[in-house]
Amino acid sequence: MGRLVMKFGGTSVANIDRIRNVARHVKREVDAGHDVAVVVSAMAGKTNELVEWCRDASPMHDAREYDAVVASGEQITAGLLAIVLQGLGIQARSWQGWQIPIRTSDAHASARILEIDGSELINRFKERKEVAVVAGFQGIYPHTGRITTLGRGGSDTSAVAIAAAIHADRCDIYTDVDGVYTTDPRVVPKARRLDKIAFEDMLELASQGAKVLQVRSVELGMVHNMPVFVRSSFDKPEDIDPRGTPPGTLICSEEEIMENHVVTGIAFSKDEAQISVRQIQDKPGVAAAIFGPLADANINVDMIVQNVSEDGATTDLTFTVPASDYTRARDTITGAKARIGYARLDSATDVAKVSVIGSGMRSHAGVAAQAFAALAGRNINIRAITTSEIKFSVLIDAAYTELAVRTLHTLYGLDQV
Ligand code: ADP
Ligand code: ASP
Ligand code: MG
Repeated sequence: MGRLVMKFGGTSVANIDRIRNVARHVKREVDAGHDVAVVVSAMAGKTNELVEWCRDASPMHDAREYDAVVASGEQITAGLLAIVLQGLGIQARSWQGWQIPIRTSDAHASARILEIDGSELINRFKERKEVAVVAGFQGIYPHTGRITTLGRGGSDTSAVAIAAAIHADRCDIYTDVDGVYTTDPRVVPKARRLDKIAFEDMLELASQGAKVLQVRSVELGMVHNMPVFVRSSFDKPEDIDPRGTPPGTLICSEEEIMENHVVTGIAFSKDEAQISVRQIQDKPGVAAAIFGPLADANINVDMIVQNVSEDGATTDLTFTVPASDYTRARDTITGAKARIGYARLDSATDVAKVSVIGSGMRSHAGVAAQAFAALAGRNINIRAITTSEIKFSVLIDAAYTELAVRTLHTLYGLDQV
């Protein structure tokens, strides 16, 4: 007998039939004697619709009201699942973030979980074996008592945080794929499912664009050493032996992984924009003059490349920002033109970042060089490069994303045989 968190994403609760299927998964674990807290997302597409409504109402809407609107999707699925579970004869109660409470920071639309009081949920496990159905993605900022949301994909983070708060043995993330693959299986059919992946590698995969888990959920899993198991919600609940090991991927500490491949996986993101500041005087303080105002505007700069300008006398600085910050970033640089002193600003939004990840890179040289040669062989031009201990990324034209990912996937021996 143990204690489990079961998290179900949007496609898994997309309609009442799927919610019934989810309820049968929950029943299976309850029947096996486990204490269960379920965390649910909004129905597929619902959050997008709510975000769109806020934009329609006003492009400059108040972030607190945005949160009041977008948190509602999860409230609906939590209530519906509790109703269906009760119909199966299972004691169940829905919980919104503020009712537990899940205390967060005041960063509306991208709040961080600070503290969760799991005592009431634990009492109810003990006293009446009641299943808790928790609305994911949301919390409360205690100082104002207002609802907050955790950023897109935030229900994963709710799930891992609840698992830590109730001292669960494991956090199961049920989604529309049966695990974490070497790259997005919807883009590369030859992608291979990983049986296990280290928190560090998963953190990089998620940060570089693999949306199967929200980055923050992996960080929390690592901090609390909470095993996270990614698996499919589309498996028939009745076919699963609760004592067996179903298909899926365990995210765990590095020590638990015996096989250590040099490259674990490949992630990509088209949510990038490139800005090149041309012909800057090459003197101390220039980088600060560019990146200071961007930092003040809360814009995250990712890749940075500096090279000699065409005229041979000045320097060019190229960097990337999230596509959603592109206009603000460009305006910030233009606004600081007098202080920076440059001739021209070039930009591109049809770019993509492809990242190769593997903690095995720590002890292997030349991994990135192989990629550069393979991409050149496909005539794919690299606009910028960044490297770190267990990852490197290249910025390329977005049109070549799939080709680049497939080429590198094959190069590093990740293809399914
Ligand atoms: P949910 O609604 O359950 O939270 P998401 O859509 O957020 O599901 O995440 C699951 C999706 O993540 C998959 O459908 C898949 O296309 C995508 N994905 C991207 N990279 C990977 C990867 N490396 N392994 C598995 N899935 C991935
Ligand atoms: N419903 C939210 C979203 O779509 C949270 C989640 O699904 O994890 O971003
Ligand atoms: Mg998700």
